[in-house]
Amino acid sequence: MTARVLVVDDVPPNVKLLEAKLTSEYFDVLTAFSGPEALEVIAREHPDIVLLDVMMPGMDGFEVCRRIKADPVTAHIPVVMVTALDQPSDRVTGLEAGADDFLTKPVQDLALFARVRSLVRLKVMMDELRNRKTTGSSLGWDEEDTVTYDNTAPTDGAILIVDEQELVVERIAKALDGVGELSFVPGGEDAADRAREKNYDLIIVSLTMRDTDGLRVCSKLRSFEETRHVPILVMVDDGNTKLLVRALEMGVNDYVVRPVDKLEFLARVKTQLKRKRFADKLWENFHLSMQLATTDAVTGLYNRHYLTSHMDTRMEAAQKQGKDLSILMMDIDHFKAVNDTYGHAVGDKVLKEFATRIGRNIRGVDLAARYGGEEFVVMMPETPADWALMIGNRLREEIANKSFDFGLPEGEIAITVSIGVATSTQGQTPGQLLEEADKALYEAKASGRNKVVVAA
Ligand code: GH3
Ligand code: MG
Ligand code: MG
Repeated sequence: MTARVLVVDDVPPNVKLLEAKLTSEYFDVLTAFSGPEALEVIAREHPDIVLLDVMMPGMDGFEVCRRIKADPVTAHIPVVMVTALDQPSDRVTGLEAGADDFLTKPVQDLALFARVRSLVRLKVMMDELRNRKTTGSSLGWDEEDTVTYDNTAPTDGAILIVDEQELVVERIAKALDGVGELSFVPGGEDAADRAREKNYDLIIVSLTMRDTDGLRVCSKLRSFEETRHVPILVMVDDGNTKLLVRALEMGVNDYVVRPVDKLEFLARVKTQLKRKRFADKLWENFHLSMQLATTDAVTGLYNRHYLTSHMDTRMEAAQKQGKDLSILMMDIDHFKAVNDTYGHAVGDKVLKEFATRIGRNIRGVDLAARYGGEEFVVMMPETPADWALMIGNRLREEIANKSFDFGLPEGEIAITVSIGVATSTQGQTPGQLLEEADKALYEAKASGRNKVVVAA
């Protein structure tokens, strides 16, 4: 897990020092010596993280940060402010400018690597999405990046706070007034389990509880499917570096040190909520695009493109394992007459109901797709020809034995389907298998329709 880190400082030895430290941990390092140069490098190189000196002549770090966060193209790049002044007010100015974290000079190695790694995780997630998007493109989905980083303060975050001390919880509630809905768990064995009950946007965990091991809560949160991607912010006592480092290694996203500065705390919570919102939108966008790219809008079944790209892998696997894979090619009989008699809209309803009946009568491992206008294909792994014939006949009866009822004044509509069955043989391509099934289907049509024919 490597990343490209841009180090910005007007004092060359400072740049050299950070560059050396980061390079020794196998990060790729870019450098800039002023605000304008930093913006230039960012525009050109798209680094994964920016380490930004606050005090620079001309354009200071706050201004650089503000500009990075104001540009939708760069707003998602994490910015870590590096400051000589360990002033809470400085930190808050930075966080309000959109900075994601702070390091104080002289920079401690542990803090540096822990922070950088934690920020790299966001990048890894985005890379993963980008990769899947490429897969999506090969399925015929045009890449379209519509998700931008929204820098406005969230007001509807769902936040869970795990702490035994009621007083602390009350103070947190006051500090976080207005960012969303807060829930509390007073520690305990099942603290992490309680987090699975709802879709939280942030979980705040105290690492210094008397009866509950906060680290253990964090590690459970990172292992549960439901909470794996929920940001965690921990509260730790000043000076307890060991505990903090372990938490960061576990994948905790951010931390505050006690005594907690209220404004800094609020700013960090907001940053985590913003990032979560961004991640959620990315996923949503991804799922929606995938759905649009793979599904037929009329029937809700997979589309032809999805079927053929999956047949490739499924047939290869079946041939390798010496297992039978069969397909059914189905075509509704005299469907044109349905359109001519009842209109196109009713025709669509028939297609939908047809798809529903097919979907209800196949297994989870089978894949049903709309292959063309009124043509459908069911792919069935681990299914020999005689089974496929049986299933084909069951589906045929499922259509023919119950007429389609849409409450029309003309009455119910009788529908039948013809089906061709083909089973894959060694070395056969999806195209060849589909062609065989198509020939069998033609035979079924020619011999009177409402029939199932197995390819010769
Ligand atoms: P056969 O028994 O030989 O299959 O006869 P058929 O009438 O079903 O076959 P043909 O290929 O002649 O006609 C198919 C019809 O399906 C023609 C087309 O208008 C209609 N069709 C294709 N796609 C859709 C659709 O999405 N909605 C509706 N309502 N009709 C469609
Ligand atoms: Mg037809
Ligand atoms: Mg047809």
